[in-house]
Amino acid sequence: MRSHNSYCCVDNCYVNVKDGVPFFRFPKDPIRCQIWKDSLGFVEDHKYANLTPEISHQRVRICAIHFNDDSFTVSGKRLLNTAIPSKVAIKVNSNNI
Ligand SMILES: [Zn+2]
Repeated sequence: MRSHNSYCCVDNCYVNVKDGVPFFRFPKDPIRCQIWKDSLGFVEDHKYANLTPEISHQRVRICAIHFNDDSFTVSGKRLLNTAIPSKVAIKVNSNNI
């Protein structure tokens, strides 16, 4: 079973923490948390859409491949406060009718 703490939160991304890719928590800040959700397509009936920022921060993790290179600190180990995940293939709903 997929665990929130072991896998990336992004749909269709199956990177696991054991793969050696850095993982990051969602921001606690409500505004930034919402920006991330919008960018990732966590809206409407998505399973993560209604999580509070606090719960998102605790449970939801995203792997580093969804961020541009300029999203990280010089060491490459931490996200900048301004980083927004953008490398995501958001599903198109028109094919699901
Ligand atoms: Zn991922």
